[in-house]
Amino acid sequence: MTLRDELTLTKHWIVQHHPHEAGDPLLRVENVSLWYDGHPALQDVSFELQAGEHLAVVGPNGAGKSTLMKIIAGVLKPTRGDVHVYGHAPGGHICIAYVPQRNAVDWNFPVTVKDVVMMGRVGKIGFFRSPRRTDWQRVRQALETVGIQALAERPIYALSGGQQQRMFLARALAQEAELILMDEPLSGLDLPAQEELLALLPTLQQNNIALLFALHDLNLARQHFSKILLLNRQLIAIGEPDEVLKPSNLRRAYGGHLHIVSDEGRWLGLSDTCCSEGEG
Ligand code: ADP
Ligand code: MG
Repeated sequence: MTLRDELTLTKHWIVQHHPHEAGDPLLRVENVSLWYDGHPALQDVSFELQAGEHLAVVGPNGAGKSTLMKIIAGVLKPTRGDVHVYGHAPGGHICIAYVPQRNAVDWNFPVTVKDVVMMGRVGKIGFFRSPRRTDWQRVRQALETVGIQALAERPIYALSGGQQQRMFLARALAQEAELILMDEPLSGLDLPAQEELLALLPTLQQNNIALLFALHDLNLARQHFSKILLLNRQLIAIGEPDEVLKPSNLRRAYGGHLHIVSDEGRWLGLSDTCCSEGEG
């Protein structure tokens, strides 16, 4: 998706702003299936997410993680099943911020970091109005929260991978998102940059912002998330890390591509060979 596409999406958000239904969970995914050209990418996936809850989405390449994110973002329509955000269809819900896989973004688009973060405000400002001082204040605050205020004037192509991800997080904060979808934000980042990004997650939780975070590294998922969804087209398990990442589940998800070792009675999965840079 290019930033131009995203602007179009943002425009769509304003038109379809829905009020929240009291009593509904933040997100309800109900029996969602999706076929691409006759091939199933997701089959009968159901789960709920409460306000402020953080969920790691793990599974092998091709498991349907990106497909699931896009359906929740309202970018793709499921073949069957429903997604409800506070009881409404997701397309155009302003409280969702979707951060696509890095290679799905057109990084040559001539725009600065602060402008991308300001795009998060469009839903609040209105598409044809100019940002006010308070909007720029929000943008500045968001950049400070993620630690890249010094990069505000920089063109986005001049950012490192970790800085790009933090910029998108800043945009989600500027948007006042209640649910952030991050699709493999760690892929292609070196370890310090991964840790820097992961270190921001508690701040989101303190602000009651829910998060769906797709990643490959099962050990990082275990360390940074108290709830994990294991996916391989079907939902294999969801819940606490030790329960979800047990050998029987990992075998169902990864087949022979995963080495399972035991560490002090806890099961560690040594990731498969994936991490292809291909966008799904
Ligand atoms: P993941 O993000 O877990 O790697 P994806 O959601 O990208 O998985 O893909 C799930 C399956 O759907 C894969 O088999 C992939 O090849 C297929 N797929 C993804 N996008 C498309 C598309 N636009 N057209 C056809 N098949 C697709
Ligand atoms: Mg993917």
